[in-house]
Amino acid sequence: MLRFIIIFAIIYLVYLSLKKSLQGGKQREGSTRSRTEQKKDVFNTNRVKEISYLFYSATKDDSTCDICKELDGKHFLPNHEIHHSIKPPHHRCKNPNGCRCSLVYVTEDEAQSEKIELILKKYGGTCNKSTIEKELRG
Ligand SMILES: [Zn+2]
Repeated sequence: MLRFIIIFAIIYLVYLSLKKSLQGGKQREGSTRSRTEQKKDVFNTNRVKEISYLFYSATKDDSTCDICKELDGKHFLPNHEIHHSIKPPHHRCKNPNGCRCSLVYVTEDEAQSEKIELILKKYGGTCNKSTIEKELRG
């Protein structure tokens, strides 16, 4: 009889520890999920909404090709269709070492971004750096 009670007690203890570890696992899962959701929120709200404008940036030196040189400083609004055609690395880049261009995403909290956004709207959503500079000078 005593042996039976001991065996029962051991089974009960094993059951308790299993239950605990299962709950722990669930909790961990839950916190990971909420962190992922938070990340998603950051992406949806901050990242996308706060982009004021973008500009094309070519690494300029002796090996910069004409196509990239031409696009350097091209400013545009995030929803402008040019976004799709000039995504670096530029497919028409003639640099034998490969295109080294990138797009610079400028957020709303950046100085003068509001003004530049207005200038871009005035020019149909895209214009060159020289136009931006000219407009900023007034
Ligand atoms: Zn190029």
